[in-house]
Amino acid sequence: MRILISNDDGIFAPGIAALVRAFSAAGHEVYVVAPDAQRSAASHSMTLTAPLYVREETLEGATRAWAASGTPVDCVKLGLHTLCPQAELVVSGVNHGYNAGIDVLYSGTVAAAMEGALNGRPAIAVSLSPRREDTYDLAAQLAVRMLEHLREHPLPRRTVLNLNYPAADRALGVRVVPAADSSYTEHYVPDVDDKGRPCYRVQGTQDPLEPGEDDCSLLAQGYATVTLLGPDLTNAEATAAFRAGLDA
Ligand code: MN
Repeated sequence: MRILISNDDGIFAPGIAALVRAFSAAGHEVYVVAPDAQRSAASHSMTLTAPLYVREETLEGATRAWAASGTPVDCVKLGLHTLCPQAELVVSGVNHGYNAGIDVLYSGTVAAAMEGALNGRPAIAVSLSPRREDTYDLAAQLAVRMLEHLREHPLPRRTVLNLNYPAADRALGVRVVPAADSSYTEHYVPDVDDKGRPCYRVQGTQDPLEPGEDDCSLLAQGYATVTLLGPDLTNAEATAAFRAGLDA
């Protein structure tokens, strides 16, 4: 298959190199369009008024690769509309840090995959534990396995396969589960920047979560997890209840 690979950690991040290695070794034709800098937590943002600058790069295993000045979503749009429209699949990552539970709302990694899904391509987002630097290849190889499974069991339209790899030398297995109802408590700590100007820096900790059959809980137990994500944020239950209340 012809595959567009992107991420939000930037084109020279180790995670993207691992994906290029794994998918090219599996016989796929790999194209890369990725941000020229760290763009984590860019979510689904895109560049509207500023110019986008694109520079061709060389990445071992990739047929062609480009670094772009925009967001992860800009990169996927540029790729699918202009640079490599022949791409049949979008893979994003491997992100350094889980994209589980509520993280997927902030994630540029997941957004890049979602942009692929919105453009009619099957799409996979891949992330791993923030505590590990040595399991990128294992996570990327599991993503290749997920693609093989996808070809037998195609996803519905506008659906992202969101894969997370645990903080283990080898995952205990793969579990397909709902995303956890997780949350963070953030503190904005006053500080000064390198020019002496006052500023704030965010510090966040994940709130305790009741263990259950969800991605955060199973990752903590050592399983790799798959959540299947769509772009529809409408709360159907609340919509029905609120409408019924208005009609009464
Ligand atoms: Mn990231």
